[in-house]
Amino acid sequence: MKSKDLTYHLTDLEAKLSNLSFEKLTTEEASQLKKSFNSLKSSLEEKFVGTTASNTSPTYGGEEAEMDRGHKKNTSSQSPKNHTNNTGEHLVAKVSHEIRTPLNGIIGFTDLLQESELSEEQKQHVSAIQSASYNLMDIINELLEYSKLSAGLEHFESVNFNFYSLVRDVMYLCNTLIMDKEVKLEVDMDTKIPEMLVGDPSKLSQILLNLVGNAIKFVNKGDIHLRIQALKQSNKDIVLDFKIIDTGIGISEEHLEHIFDAFRQADHDTFKKYGGSGLGLSIVKQIIENLNGNINVTSTLGVGTTFNFELPFIIGVELPKEKDDQHKANINNRKDLVKGMQILVFEDNLLNQKLIEKRLKSWGCLVQITDNAQYGLNILENNKIDLVFMDLRMPVMDGFEVTRRIRSSKNAYVSQIPVIALTADFSIKDKEQCQNNGINDYILKPYSPDELLLKLTSNRADMKIIDKNDSKLATQPKVIIDEEAPKINLKLILEECMGEVDLLEELVTLYKQNALEFIGNVKHHLEVEDYENIQFAAHKMKSGLAMMQTYSLHAIVVQIHQTCITDKDQKHLEFLYNCFLEEYPVVINEIEIEMKKLK
Ligand code: ADP
Repeated sequence: MKSKDLTYHLTDLEAKLSNLSFEKLTTEEASQLKKSFNSLKSSLEEKFVGTTASNTSPTYGGEEAEMDRGHKKNTSSQSPKNHTNNTGEHLVAKVSHEIRTPLNGIIGFTDLLQESELSEEQKQHVSAIQSASYNLMDIINELLEYSKLSAGLEHFESVNFNFYSLVRDVMYLCNTLIMDKEVKLEVDMDTKIPEMLVGDPSKLSQILLNLVGNAIKFVNKGDIHLRIQALKQSNKDIVLDFKIIDTGIGISEEHLEHIFDAFRQADHDTFKKYGGSGLGLSIVKQIIENLNGNINVTSTLGVGTTFNFELPFIIGVELPKEKDDQHKANINNRKDLVKGMQILVFEDNLLNQKLIEKRLKSWGCLVQITDNAQYGLNILENNKIDLVFMDLRMPVMDGFEVTRRIRSSKNAYVSQIPVIALTADFSIKDKEQCQNNGINDYILKPYSPDELLLKLTSNRADMKIIDKNDSKLATQPKVIIDEEAPKINLKLILEECMGEVDLLEELVTLYKQNALEFIGNVKHHLEVEDYENIQFAAHKMKSGLAMMQTYSLHAIVVQIHQTCITDKDQKHLEFLYNCFLEEYPVVINEIEIEMKKLK
């Protein structure tokens, strides 16, 4: 296994850490950061490079490098090195995980540091540590993936997905990679391709991101085209032809021959200038071959490069279209609503991590991402998180288990944070499991930005407890209702009623009846301290409030529900009940005004 890139990045990270001036950090902050780094370093040295690896300066030659270069042209069945066996592959997978955990610690910690008050110089140092950590993480992830693919351990999915959304997502991400360069990125897609296909969306986006990402890396000024055409099509399946054409630096004939070999880069200058592990293309080829496709490349030095791959797909099933035309009109409103929200994402897939992070950040959300359950749970206990996105299929501890732990937190605020599941394959079983484990909602991957935004706004709590770190809510029962946020948008509901105002009117009447019944019941149950029935009333009320998208009332009722489950604090419940009484007429008033406008 080639250690030079890892060692190089580790040294880079170490140098950046030593440059960091710690005087403005608290002792605890500084020591945690250093602890994470030392733990990472010793894992790496002891288990990967060998205990004698005290010299961590970058080397570009040596036996290991030679062995890596000696690796024959890759096929998916071939092991990466002649002497590498399955035990070796498992070791790499295990070690990579052990390295990733402390490295995640460093990354998470620098994220937090960036939010604190730092001098300009400190900011620069922290961001240098962060970028070095990300580089190292990229390499480790690639090594891990390569070893899993080579050992046949990689899992491939076959799920119904929206092909057009996927391409749009990839292009969105790729466009964010183009920085200050005069590069034009264009997609040209055969409209005969059906919208829904069955395959592995996550792997397809990985392939595209890698190839288009490479093109962006190696074109300073010029064009990149992604062309997708249907080659063969029947009622049941389709073969797609993808071309990634760039007008970049090109690849020499000599290097082209070995371009899909593991750890290959065109030359040493490439590594120095562009970084990378030389594993990307080898991984791409293995994935494509695993998916029964093939890949070729043609290139002329100084002119450009074309990567061409074919992949078969089964034609998917059209899902009922979301009635989101009206929603789109409200997108800007919704963007304002989510600005400043603190969001924690549990997600282990690197691409999905990047995608969701970029989107949420572009709307002004503050985002923390982790694939480590314990680390994420700690973030929740120590930060003011407003909402959690939860990948259901994570290694080590799945999303259901993590949500169960969130729901059973002693901290009343944490136990009621809205949790939205992220999943590619949502079966009935999962739906039940979601409900049983306290997951509030779900979103199917790949999702469009609009879908993400809608889920975010429909699950956000407009109401925030001032001191979220204080679990004793009863002693500080302060509630802020976001006065700026619209209380209701009947146009959206009208859309759900297929434009029938009569139906909407009936709904509003029903809504009022339910709310009044809730007010009466809870008053009575509070008097006799019957928390079970308050919980039941709140549970019944929640869905109606969510359906009418009256978020402020919904948030209050969610808290009433949670308080009945957790500390059953009478005073806090009374306080929340009074909040509902105050907010209800305000919402109803807005409903009446909107109803009049619609008639
Ligand atoms: P890395 O992860 O280091 O980028 P890859 O396997 O993705 O490794 O690519 C290997 C090498 O192939 C790159 O270092 C570069 O020299 C060359 N290469 C890949 N794509 C292109 C491209 N579009 N234009 C020019 N060179 C490329």
